[in-house]
Amino acid sequence: MSKILVAGAGHGGLVAAARLAGAGFDVTVIEKGKEGKQGHDWEDRFTFKILCDALGIPESGLGADIWRYRGDCAFVSPAKRKKVIINYTDENRQRIMWRKPLIKMLIENAVKSGVKFIYETEVLSPLTQGSRVTGLRTDKGDYDADLVIDAAGVFSPVRSNLPASFGIEKEPKEGDVFYAYRAYFDKAEDVNPEVPFEVYMYHEGEKGLSWFNTIGDCCDVLIGRVFPLTDEKINEQLAIFGKDHPWLGDKILHGGCRAVIPVRRPLTLMVADGYAAVGDSAFMTTPMNGMGIDLSILAGGMLADTLIEKADFSAENLWNYNRNFHALYGGDTAKNEGLKNAILSLPSEGVDFLFENEVIQSSDLAGAGKNMNFGVLLGKLKRGMRSPGFFFALIKGLVAGSGACKLYKSAPENYSPAQIRAWSDKIAKKDIAVKSE
Ligand SMILES: Cc1cc2nc3c(=O)[nH]c(=O)nc-3n(C[C@H](O)[C@H](O)[C@H](O)COP(=O)(O)OP(=O)(O)OC[C@H]3O[C@@H](n4cnc5c(N)ncnc54)[C@H](O)[C@@H]3O)c2cc1C
Repeated sequence: MSKILVAGAGHGGLVAAARLAGAGFDVTVIEKGKEGKQGHDWEDRFTFKILCDALGIPESGLGADIWRYRGDCAFVSPAKRKKVIINYTDENRQRIMWRKPLIKMLIENAVKSGVKFIYETEVLSPLTQGSRVTGLRTDKGDYDADLVIDAAGVFSPVRSNLPASFGIEKEPKEGDVFYAYRAYFDKAEDVNPEVPFEVYMYHEGEKGLSWFNTIGDCCDVLIGRVFPLTDEKINEQLAIFGKDHPWLGDKILHGGCRAVIPVRRPLTLMVADGYAAVGDSAFMTTPMNGMGIDLSILAGGMLADTLIEKADFSAENLWNYNRNFHALYGGDTAKNEGLKNAILSLPSEGVDFLFENEVIQSSDLAGAGKNMNFGVLLGKLKRGMRSPGFFFALIKGLVAGSGACKLYKSAPENYSPAQIRAWSDKIAKKDIAVKSE
């Protein structure tokens, strides 16, 4: 029987594992954490239906104790002079779920489908022979496989240790990831603001985003920057939040750790003979908001579909998964990256200008920029031309994003390393550099 190894218990890897084991493949997940300890101690926004479809359960099957609604949201401009408020309706109010039960459900589903798990084992690198991945090297020994599914997250040692000849991008570059700190603090006073979820763009003039969400008995604080966060920076930002929000307590109830989010377009090439990346290891998030759970679960399903249709682990067959993902989702996230990078290439005064002149509006922010098309932009043109430099920087990002989107959606029909290289090079030219300083 064909042997499949999944590196890391990432969301997409768990979905693919369950489907493939259910279809008769011999699947093993190798996870570095202890059994029962997977998932961050915080809540995430994602599409519950996507999860439930992957688990084959109705949405009503999600226990009321593991999810809740998030309140109305205010996007705050860098100089804090302008707030863009989003009042959700009953239909579109954001729902958030604790990460630990989410991962637990995916693991239980995989176990039920026949997937084996090896915990407390760190994957160190892929094993390769010529152009093929043949297994995984771990701190407990080597494991052979016909296919390795890379679900080990943004800094996957599988992806980053592939030989250069595979043509797969190995490391994120400057501006491709957000360094985040997240913690839920207690409330020192029982304050419940009318708009409880505040998102700060370029908080304190620094490239990145922070939020302060007064929710239930907690203050959920996220500090995100394009540069790594030191303890000093985290404490400085918490002190600033504490000044503006005197109800911020000092006891950490959940989280309280750093983590990294990819906020870039996905890998152009994410497969090789015996190898497929899924989720954060292939940088599958929506860059403007860092949401990756939906895309990861969807990609896991697509990978499984490809292999169930044809049990062939060659790059030629896996390319169908790669290509289909880009046609359905990769293109749109590349477009979104153009907007995100354009905003991050501006000085904070530029972002203030876009907010204060309503070039960026609540509809753009509610849809993570997905509503920011050229038609909508025409209406903003007049206001934007009050500062052409900032406005055209934004337009440049949108044009680059649209170009990248078209390219992603027209990936080479068949697996041909030369054609894929030429196509990837064209996409790389659409990049807008983001400097962390
Ligand atoms: C602060 C923060 C907030 C976020 N909020 C949201 C949100 O609200 N909505 C949303 O959709 N997304 C959110 N994301 C992004 C989301 O976490 C990811 O996009 C999503 O989890 C997909 O990642 P993954 O499952 O591929 O990888 P991961 O979640 O990183 O999982 C990787 C797994 O591999 C294991 N692993 C790693 N290295 C090794 C190794 N060497 N050997 C063995 N095992 C290994 C890890 O222990 C882990 O279990 C957020 C991320 C952060 C950091």
